[in-house]
Amino acid sequence: MKAITISPQIMTVSGGNPLKTVRHRSHKRSSYLWIVILLSSIALPARSQTWKAGVATVRITPGESLWLAGYASRTHASDGKLHDLWAKALALEDGTGQKAVLVTSDILGFPKAMSDRIRSRLNSQLGLSKAQIMLNSSHTHSGPVLAYALQDIYPLDAGEQAKIDRYARWLEDQIVALVGAAFRQREPVTLSAQNGVTRFQVNRRNNQEATLRQQTELRGPNDYAVPVIKVVTATGKLKAIAFGYACHPTVLDLYQWSGDYAGFAQLELEKEHPGVTALFFQGAAGDQNPLPRRTVSLARQYGRELAAAVDRVLDEPMRTLPAQLRTAYSEIDLPLSAPPTEAELTKIESENEGYLKRWATRMRADQKQGKPFMTHYPYPMQVWQLGNQPIFSFGGELVIQYAIDCKKRFGPDIFVVGYANDVMGYIPSATILQEGGYEGASSQMVYGLPSRWAPSVPGLIDQEINRLAEQAGVPRQN
Ligand SMILES: [Zn+2]
Repeated sequence: MKAITISPQIMTVSGGNPLKTVRHRSHKRSSYLWIVILLSSIALPARSQTWKAGVATVRITPGESLWLAGYASRTHASDGKLHDLWAKALALEDGTGQKAVLVTSDILGFPKAMSDRIRSRLNSQLGLSKAQIMLNSSHTHSGPVLAYALQDIYPLDAGEQAKIDRYARWLEDQIVALVGAAFRQREPVTLSAQNGVTRFQVNRRNNQEATLRQQTELRGPNDYAVPVIKVVTATGKLKAIAFGYACHPTVLDLYQWSGDYAGFAQLELEKEHPGVTALFFQGAAGDQNPLPRRTVSLARQYGRELAAAVDRVLDEPMRTLPAQLRTAYSEIDLPLSAPPTEAELTKIESENEGYLKRWATRMRADQKQGKPFMTHYPYPMQVWQLGNQPIFSFGGELVIQYAIDCKKRFGPDIFVVGYANDVMGYIPSATILQEGGYEGASSQMVYGLPSRWAPSVPGLIDQEINRLAEQAGVPRQN
């Protein structure tokens, strides 16, 4: 309706409260006109039909040699780089001024303490709530170790630890400044979305890496979707591409900084589309590996495959998203199962070396000091309805089954994001929790947690994400 655009302009001309103006006007026709304007402005608040978006990037490659994150097997700090590491922000504002920001980053994961501080600073500086901020990490295993995360798995001395703490504080400031910069640069845009597909992810629990070449059929479950958001300016210029995939960036295990395949994919897209910012977000990659792996050429190959999948989506018709944004967020206390006994800890400590020994020693020390073991963890979940594009975001190393199940309930077009806002451990499905293994059991020690998740956890997550979807206005299909 025309009144949408007319009313704010005329209200500006009147220079104040239209009610007051109506009362003081004596001319009948004029009063009538003002009443019409007043009514239309009450019924239809000022609303623009367009999105605004801003992007900003910051190079986060450490300036000094630092320990690399992700593998317990590394024996020394970094030694140069393959390419730079980046943090990037896509700031969005809908037609009513509702805001949200997606932050992507070439790091292993945002630990809770850091994520909480970043989000509280963004709240006081920009008024953003947790629902409006999505902090995603690509989970590259060729990025820096951060403070407050996976402390037991790296054999760090005090000097290395001090460098890590210093870098983590610096990174935190960079992310806060990055989001501010992205919002300052926002301009009118159109947003479109669509899922593409590429198939280099391999379910690492149900296929053996060592004998993969002999395998003629790969076992799932998988979700090969490549979610893409296209940002185009009012003049029709491609401005930014946010895209995702669910696969561990573990092609490489070198000592050089890189974003792994995800870093190569972003470089490839930015090379192909000069001036465009490409942002990678990680999906439900908990049990998905890029296989085969371990060479730079393979990392580049997968990067190109992913970039090609994104390009195909950009070339074909995409869904244009109406400029309406809804966001929902919550943290629920996920229960952990019973902690190990003192006898069990003593056994683990005496029978193991490396991180298992360090974990058991730390746990026993806590026990001796009478420190209670953690019994629950505040787990973050989030749903955005970006126009009519639902985005489901989860903390932790979410396994693929959650993406598959969400798509069963909410349709195949939804986007699923993992490794968001806090990476505290693996988030196994009911099946994986029952089976155990790395993602279901032993990874909890890698993350320094006292025990496995309780059997009720997958059900609690499904229930809460359904509630958030409803809150954000995402329709259920099943
Ligand atoms: Zn992982």
